[in-house]
Amino acid sequence: MRQFQFNYVNDTSFVRELRKLSQWCKTMISSTVFFQIYTESVDKEKIESLCELIRREMPGAYYMGCSTNGNILNGEFTGYDTAVTCTVCEYPSTQISIKQFVLTPETEVSVTDEVIDYVSHNPWVKAVEMLVTIRGLSMTGFCDRLDKIRDGVYVFGGGAFIPDFGNNACVFSSDGGYSEKGAVFLFMGGDDLHIDTTYITGWKPLGRELLVNKAEGAILYELDGRPAFDTYYKYLNIQNDEHFFTNTLEFPFVYEYNGISILRAPIASNEDGSLEMTADIDTGVYARIAYGDPWTILESVKNGAEGIRPFQPEVIHVFSCAARRTFWGKDEVSKETMPFQTLAPTSGFYTSGEFLRSQGHVNQHNVTLVVAAMREGELVGDYNDNFEMKEENFSGKVSMINRLATFIEAATEELEEANAKLAKMAVTDALTGLYNRGEIQSQISKGIKSGRAVSLIMLDLDNFKSVNDTYGHKEGDNVIRGLCKVINDKLAAMSDNGRAGRWGGEEFMILLEEGDSDKAEQIAESIRESFSTVEFSACGKRTVSIGVTKALSGESADSTVMRADNALYEAKGTGKNKVVIA
Ligand code: GH3
Ligand code: MG
Ligand code: MG
Repeated sequence: MRQFQFNYVNDTSFVRELRKLSQWCKTMISSTVFFQIYTESVDKEKIESLCELIRREMPGAYYMGCSTNGNILNGEFTGYDTAVTCTVCEYPSTQISIKQFVLTPETEVSVTDEVIDYVSHNPWVKAVEMLVTIRGLSMTGFCDRLDKIRDGVYVFGGGAFIPDFGNNACVFSSDGGYSEKGAVFLFMGGDDLHIDTTYITGWKPLGRELLVNKAEGAILYELDGRPAFDTYYKYLNIQNDEHFFTNTLEFPFVYEYNGISILRAPIASNEDGSLEMTADIDTGVYARIAYGDPWTILESVKNGAEGIRPFQPEVIHVFSCAARRTFWGKDEVSKETMPFQTLAPTSGFYTSGEFLRSQGHVNQHNVTLVVAAMREGELVGDYNDNFEMKEENFSGKVSMINRLATFIEAATEELEEANAKLAKMAVTDALTGLYNRGEIQSQISKGIKSGRAVSLIMLDLDNFKSVNDTYGHKEGDNVIRGLCKVINDKLAAMSDNGRAGRWGGEEFMILLEEGDSDKAEQIAESIRESFSTVEFSACGKRTVSIGVTKALSGESADSTVMRADNALYEAKGTGKNKVVIA
């Protein structure tokens, strides 16, 4: 398989290229030819005239194309309005076909059904490349249905777009005319055709995690209990105006789902502060705002290209998000696609969404670079070609971004560590490491309110004042810690949900949930018994008195605690070193 690539400059040069291609194809015993046309314009007349020239000069050739946010030829952003690639399949077994459909919310289901059906009736199909006008559609449902395409068939492609990020876009093909609401599918296959795909992100989370409190489909309502729009306003000073889409384009949310990073960019902000996202986002996930990090991107590009290299591609198609083009700027954007050109002729375009099937699921990605590699024939023995990425230097904007991204990442990491430490300190007693009074009290209240079977065990060291008085405060502290160790060991040894806190100076409280009261008594008795055998260096063996009670249904936490306290008081009054059940 070979690919010829050129920019459309004018009709004369285009016809000249077509005639050369036509001559070249005539020298082949067998060839299947398809054109891909990527154009920054949605000028119907111009597109139709291009298609007409192909039909006239190379009757029988397949073609497909779409409007784009910029075109890629020979691994580089072209800067030209229209790019044309001509792929010539050289093995007689290779087959292709193109199908175009009208795609609207009404036709979505029938379109996916037809594609699934076509693939299942054509066992030769190995890959489906699609060009789709996606605005105004919920692509998640569309993609989910495409999961039913026969197992093992690759699916990839891109969303049509235009340079000004506007709403119009178009697709066209040899199967259907110019369409502003359409999907074109290229089916490729045959015994000698081989496909490999990968995708690259390189977007890095910035700032802290935000909980998605509420999302429905592609509408993101609340983050951390506030309208989702507030996040963009607060952290990025992005206003809810007509520039919202272009301003947020480079700042998608990123979250982990099934072990892969999902990026979701907002398309629009609603009056209630909710955000319309490019695709569905799930309630309950933790999302962070992300931004491109030049080194991370190039590192992923390198890994991606290295992963594709052993496949020995002959042709590579790339679908890169328009946000990436905006992020890099036209002078540096080719850095992320050029490495693929060292492997094979690389062409593609900047999209409004990237499609890729991975692990059986067809996903619509955002802000990614989807790479599809193709080859006819078997691998050529051992490959020894060395693949090396050019050393890259960043200049201007990208260099600055690189430093700021590094700074923000380091600062965020420090803050997260400090936050985690503070959060732990806020609920922990410094001397014993148990929960502090406030925390154990609030857990008791929650436990009792939950209606689960809750028991309390209240403990107080016996004759503790004398330890302090005779051996000093330090030895007193040792005894306190000694009792806590026994408590922790006993709780760790049981499977039930047991938590301990320091109630006061040498008084402790254990909350047992989902345990019966016999169990509470056993634990209390075993703590008492174990503790009485601990030998302290100065004061020798000490004892503890314990009160145990069970929360009655409907009662308040205060009254349960009071009963435990009374039981403890009774233990003290009747000889100490004992467990009393209320
Ligand atoms: P009882 O058997 O009736 O409980 O007698 P007791 O001596 O233990 O009496 P009480 O519970 O009133 O004594 C509490 C003492 O614990 C008073 C205080 O000096 C001491 N204490 C409170 N917190 C600490 C601490 O953090 N470290 C040390 N070493 N002593 C403490
Ligand atoms: Mg005491
Ligand atoms: Mg006491």
